[in-house]
Amino acid sequence: MTGAFNGECDMSIRKLLKGFLDFKEKTYETKKDFFLKLAERQQPRVMMIACSDSRVDPAILTNSEPGEMFVVRNVANLVPPRADDDSKHGTSAALEFAVTALEVEHIVVFGHRGCGGIKALLTADPNLSAQNTFIHNWMNIADEARRRTLIIARDQPFDHQLKTLEQEAMKTSLANLLSFPWIRERVDDNSLRLHGWYYDIHDGNMYVYVPEKDGFEPLTVELADRL
Ligand SMILES: [Zn+2]
Repeated sequence: MTGAFNGECDMSIRKLLKGFLDFKEKTYETKKDFFLKLAERQQPRVMMIACSDSRVDPAILTNSEPGEMFVVRNVANLVPPRADDDSKHGTSAALEFAVTALEVEHIVVFGHRGCGGIKALLTADPNLSAQNTFIHNWMNIADEARRRTLIIARDQPFDHQLKTLEQEAMKTSLANLLSFPWIRERVDDNSLRLHGWYYDIHDGNMYVYVPEKDGFEPLTVELADRL
């Protein structure tokens, strides 16, 4: 336990704490009115479901400001289907709050290339499935996407299969969103729109899900204006 409080760990924690002090001095103090107004209430128009992966912070990648997005991050940016049991459904609870209380107008499933959770699912990593039931149970959400991938990308190299599964799992999550009645009814009356964004950490580009094509297109200014 004491090992957690010395050495390298101290340096990384100190960097974050000093980062906050820097933020307080340079950002908070210079935009104090903005932050005081935010302190009264939040009114984000967008909910983001992103991966816990340290490289894909949606706020940084979209140049957004505090108050713009209500964010859930979980392993592999998955949305579970609606389930009426007494398990602790953290992602579903966040969705319910964002949709029914905050009344967000958009939900974005924010996927990414090189996802460790998706890779473990694709390879049926025995360590993860046998020893870590939380991850194993969670990744079951994308089992059907895995089956689709192994058909669609059967003869492709592993890297291509991985990318395919990352994107197929996003489609599963988008479909699962519609299993919640308070999402379905808002999508049907056009007060809520669903989006899939896939960030490629290798080429630095974003790819946007286009339902009409059932595929992903590189994000350009023209595409952003069209959505
Ligand atoms: Zn990931």
